[in-house]
Amino acid sequence: MKTFTHINATSIADAGAKLTQYGSSAKLIAGGTDLIRLLKTRCLPDASLPQYIINLKTITPTLDYIKVDGTTLKIGALTRLHDIAFSTTVLGSWSSLSQAARVVSSWPIRQMGTIGGNICCQKQCWYYRSTWNKFQCVLNGGTGCPAVAGNHRYESVFGPTNGCYSVNPNDISPVLLALSATIVTNKGSYTADKFFDGFKITNLGAGEFVTEIDIPTPAAGSKQAFVKASERRAVDFASANCAILVTPGTGTITAARIVLGAVATVPYLSAEAATALIGKSISADTAAAAGAAAVSKASPISALNKYKVAMASGLVQRALLS
Ligand SMILES: Cc1cc2nc3c(=O)[nH]c(=O)nc-3n(C[C@H](O)[C@H](O)[C@H](O)COP(=O)(O)OP(=O)(O)OC[C@H]3O[C@@H](n4cnc5c(N)ncnc54)[C@H](O)[C@@H]3O)c2cc1C
Ligand code: SF4
Repeated sequence: MKTFTHINATSIADAGAKLTQYGSSAKLIAGGTDLIRLLKTRCLPDASLPQYIINLKTITPTLDYIKVDGTTLKIGALTRLHDIAFSTTVLGSWSSLSQAARVVSSWPIRQMGTIGGNICCQKQCWYYRSTWNKFQCVLNGGTGCPAVAGNHRYESVFGPTNGCYSVNPNDISPVLLALSATIVTNKGSYTADKFFDGFKITNLGAGEFVTEIDIPTPAAGSKQAFVKASERRAVDFASANCAILVTPGTGTITAARIVLGAVATVPYLSAEAATALIGKSISADTAAAAGAAAVSKASPISALNKYKVAMASGLVQRALLS
């Protein structure tokens, strides 16, 4: 039986130092809702199992906050999704983030899960997550992607990254792109569109972890929304989701950020949808055009995951007309 050495971080600097010291033999734990599941099922190959688990929760007060600094919303990485969902501060100018946090999984997961953990969650592909590492695909140290010839109903309709089609399914990530967030780490920062990687999940470097999310205040009069489709209303990851920020919300649109989630290996910022909207105003026709444009580059693996294309297109329309 594999045992892990549990280390309580005492500060941000301490967590960074431990992470650097133990390198790939260490994993961070925050709420543990994803990591514990990953470790308990033994879906990772032995060589990828960590020896050290570095507990960030012991520095919670330092990284658990929601505040506004000037015009920027600042959320500590250890802030729980439940607190974000019901924060009046977040609801004020960043309502789409609140909408997304409210529909993540179920109440217990939102009570434990943190925003930092959410955007760093590992892939959910059921081949990758199979117990005892049954499918040694390219993502868990083997070769090939059994999902392509197998059941790929949840996989990407925008192609693979490094041969892996597993989507980024998290609900918070598309909102961060739509709202042009910055992901702050113990070593620097990333704009949200540079943070995610379709294979490694994030572009965090060695010894690096998320400490804060910064989100600018959207322009006055802009419209934002988050919508999600999933098989069951609660608990399930998204089959597809969509976050939008359109400026202004009424009148002639000058800027639009339309982001699809759970349909590509990273949250998908659609330049085509933005182009379809700029210079127009929101109507049923322009929303339909933006929905069609958002998926114009989609290329499903087969009829099995093709439903995501229509679903994503419909979500863009629903978000715009909400
Ligand atoms: C049944 C179930 C249903 C779910 N449904 C949804 C859903 O509908 N939508 C959705 O978005 N998510 C869903 N999730 C995922 C859930 O949102 C995440 O599990 C949760 O937000 C992760 O937060 P955590 O603090 O528990 O992370 P942990 O499990 O502690 O960590 C997750 C990963 O992130 C890393 N990590 C944690 N904190 C940091 C940090 N600060 N910096 C860098 N890396 C870090 C860990 O090393 C680990 O790899 C579901 C999970 C479960 C178990
Ligand atoms: S989609 Fe990715 S995680 Fe799933 S089987 Fe293929 S390579 Fe593995």
